[in-house]
Amino acid sequence: MSEDPSVETVGVGVVRIALRTPTLPPATHTNSYLVGGDVFYAVEPASPWSDEQRRLEDAVRARLARGHRLVAAIVTHHHQDHVGGARSFCDRFRVPLLAHPITRDRLGASVAVDGVLDEGARLDPALDALDVAVLHTPGHAPGHLCLFSRAHGWAIVGDMVASEGTILIDPEDGGDMDAYLAQLARLASLQPTRLLPAHGAPIDDAVARLEFYVAHRLAREARVLAAVGDAPTSLDDVVAGAYADSPQAPYVLAARSASAHLRRLARLGAVVCEAGGRWRRVT
Ligand SMILES: [Zn+2]
Ligand SMILES: [Zn+2]
Repeated sequence: MSEDPSVETVGVGVVRIALRTPTLPPATHTNSYLVGGDVFYAVEPASPWSDEQRRLEDAVRARLARGHRLVAAIVTHHHQDHVGGARSFCDRFRVPLLAHPITRDRLGASVAVDGVLDEGARLDPALDALDVAVLHTPGHAPGHLCLFSRAHGWAIVGDMVASEGTILIDPEDGGDMDAYLAQLARLASLQPTRLLPAHGAPIDDAVARLEFYVAHRLAREARVLAAVGDAPTSLDDVVAGAYADSPQAPYVLAARSASAHLRRLARLGAVVCEAGGRWRRVT
């Protein structure tokens, strides 16, 4: 079997295989990661399309043929571009699908999760040399997980950051801007040296990128606050004011982001939501 050239080592004990998925444009792929050595996990066997699934299966089979053992598959969160191929992958290789309990509950019967991983969970002892910390990082999704190798500095970060496209915080789908900003800061405090996102190439200016994400969101939040007048302001008007600099942003995505910022600002006591869903600044 010839090796797939797109199977790329991206850190000690971790390889990346980008599979085409039905994800949010401009991204077109979701990265699957194989984590470990003789004993390994598959993170995000995400593609629902059989030709793409085959590429991942071939990479896994090549390792099984060398005597390696696949422990389980892990999904970072419940979004369709992360779980689309998970069930068929697990059934094919007869391994359990693991996710955070909130992700399991969100997926319900649509993608059956066999076991849970939460903050501080320990992976198979055979991976102890990688010293992988399982982190619960809500914000983009309430049951989001990251895997951080304390031994080697890489962090599989799912949709916390992306090197292709932007990260949507959608309050209608469990998104929480306050939690997201707190988890970005926590990831930065762990001083990773390489971020491995679900979409796009590895990110080597890891801490700077995480800090940039926080600063970028706070700058947008300042624009959202400025767009909320002293008189009650509709969400449409907040979006028009806060996103005037990026008219190319699809309205529905801008509205969801603005709504996420407004909810955080309300929690901070800076705005209130009045009857009719209009927002007013607290002065
Ligand atoms: Zn997502
Ligand atoms: Zn995604």
